[in-house]
Amino acid sequence: MPVVSYEDIKPDIDRIADGDRSSIFCSQPISEFLTSSGTSGGERKLMPTVEEELGRRSLLYSLLMPVMDRFIPDLQKGKGMYFLFIKSEAKTPGGLLARPVLTSYYKSSYFKKRPYDPYTNYTSPNETILCLDSYQSMYSQMLCGLCQNTEVLRVGAVFASGFIRAIRFLEKHWPILCHDIRTGTLSSQITDPLVRESVMKILKPNPKLAEFIEIECSKESWKGIIPRLWPNTKYVDVIVTGTMSQYIPTLNYYGNDLPLVCTMYASSECYFGINLNPLCKPCEVAYTLIPTMGFFEFLPVAREDEGPEKSKPYDKNDLVDLVDVKLGHEYELVVTTYAGLYRYRVGDILKVTGFKNKAPQFHFVCRKNVALSIDSDKTDEVELHDAVLKASTHLLPFEASLTEYTSYADTSTSPGHYVLYWEISYKNSDETLIPTSVFEDCCLTIEESLNSVYRQCRVSDKSISPLEIKVVENGTFDKLMDYAICNGASINQYKAPRCVKYAPIIELLNSRVVSSYFSPKYPKWVPGHKQWSSS
Ligand code: AMP
Repeated sequence: MPVVSYEDIKPDIDRIADGDRSSIFCSQPISEFLTSSGTSGGERKLMPTVEEELGRRSLLYSLLMPVMDRFIPDLQKGKGMYFLFIKSEAKTPGGLLARPVLTSYYKSSYFKKRPYDPYTNYTSPNETILCLDSYQSMYSQMLCGLCQNTEVLRVGAVFASGFIRAIRFLEKHWPILCHDIRTGTLSSQITDPLVRESVMKILKPNPKLAEFIEIECSKESWKGIIPRLWPNTKYVDVIVTGTMSQYIPTLNYYGNDLPLVCTMYASSECYFGINLNPLCKPCEVAYTLIPTMGFFEFLPVAREDEGPEKSKPYDKNDLVDLVDVKLGHEYELVVTTYAGLYRYRVGDILKVTGFKNKAPQFHFVCRKNVALSIDSDKTDEVELHDAVLKASTHLLPFEASLTEYTSYADTSTSPGHYVLYWEISYKNSDETLIPTSVFEDCCLTIEESLNSVYRQCRVSDKSISPLEIKVVENGTFDKLMDYAICNGASINQYKAPRCVKYAPIIELLNSRVVSSYFSPKYPKWVPGHKQWSSS
């Protein structure tokens, strides 16, 4: 079998999405599509899955607490406060469901009808997790978490960005949450009857608790707010590896350096593995792949010192088996799944950092080609470049043109947002002759041109705030080049980076901003693929 990427199998995916029920990928019927946060042609990739995969995912979840228990005992004596959410689902033209993997899992009987287990005892009733309205879901989960504050032994969400969103929600809404706790009544904004019923089983008038929360939340500093409000918390369970590492300082601030625990590594294609040393530092996290989840192979990643020889295209003869990976080497993960993906390139780069007995353990290095990410969005340089080119045409009527740009995922705002630094050259005009609305149109055009995961985060999840263009003084990008050359870059090979992360560079750019503009409204977004909207 050849090594493939999504584009290679897309024609088959489209056939299944359009209703072809023959055994294209595997002998079992495709039960639904899982919509990945990775995109192809601006739309979420569709990953086939089969019914029995739910059991396999459930098995991986069941391994997490026995591992945790070895490091932090007695977790069964209290509850987990996890902020878990479902997202909207769509139907393909052929009638198959297409939805995110976690939505599929939370809606399955594996989650909804799980037998009582003190290790999966959560503060959020199922109904609050299964409510599609993100405000009602968040409000009710936070309320239930606050009501049971002393029982909470661990807190978390899937990704760090989601947990921080919950804390920021509390910052904004604690007065009405406290009102509900004081009076034992539920805000009229919570209209979903199932949510109301489930919350009312937990909510009792508790003026003392309301006062305690009010005192803590009205203090100027929110440093350590997690252990202040949930005093028995032993750790924060969120993924902070990969692009989520940008949130570690914020979590350390709110958590007063409570351990940040990354328990698992998974995707829509396949669940991969778990962290057997959960109390390690975030930068040392390594995942042990569970060999029964799928069949794993590895494409060696050419290291810089190996020269251009190694940058030839890969083929199946380059693949290395799980048993043959070498300590310290980097690989791209290739997976064969029970749902019929064969030698599929996931796009993640992993590094072998150790072994558990003979099982290799992998540090998540990065996902290939991600330039910007705030939440589950992953924007690559090409998408960004196309969007910027399109937007910059708004400048042409003013005899102005974009000469250079770069970008930055700014997570210092809440929620985070994309920032684009633009250097503009003017023929006969200057910036003051270009109306603000033109730059705002540029912002919106970029947002409209970005992939559907970005737009869903903006419009539906509200986990990304409006995109910003910062116009910088002329000559700023020359300064950037000077800086790079002073720090060892080659003058011949220098290209302006399309995305920056390094604090001194961002400082340099920010010190030369002459004006800034925000996207004035939401970009367009509809659930499902755009070509299905009419169905
Ligand atoms: P999705 O296709 O939306 O299910 O996203 C799966 C991708 O999320 C993986 O291929 C990784 O790039 C990323 N991811 C999942 N788990 C982790 C983790 N523990 N650490 C870093 N990245 C992760």
